[in-house]
Amino acid sequence: MTEHFNGLTPAEDELLAVLAEECAEVIQIISKIQRHGLRNYHPESREVNAYTLEREMGDVRAAMKLVCEAGIARESTIHLLADEKLKHIERYLHHSVVPATLNGTGRFNAE
Ligand SMILES: [Mg+2]
Repeated sequence: MTEHFNGLTPAEDELLAVLAEECAEVIQIISKIQRHGLRNYHPESREVNAYTLEREMGDVRAAMKLVCEAGIARESTIHLLADEKLKHIERYLHHSVVPATLNGTGRFNAE
């Protein structure tokens, strides 16, 4: 079999595709919430948008776990970078406050 130019194994390519797909689903529900609101719901499934956002964010988290377990990304680096993001994002927010940072384990910790 010819190796692909990007050097990804089929398993790495598949897991990155799963992560991209789940990220796209988060983007889709955010767009629905911005158009119709958190309390609106899907007309057929009747699932409330706020719950769909939680479900899709959980799917992203699961895909991230699989990507880390495959050695594509490092959980420890992700947690460090998330803490850095929390330290700097507030200055760019117009309406929100950032009350917590991650404690290096992926869980939020009040400062
Ligand atoms: Mg999903």
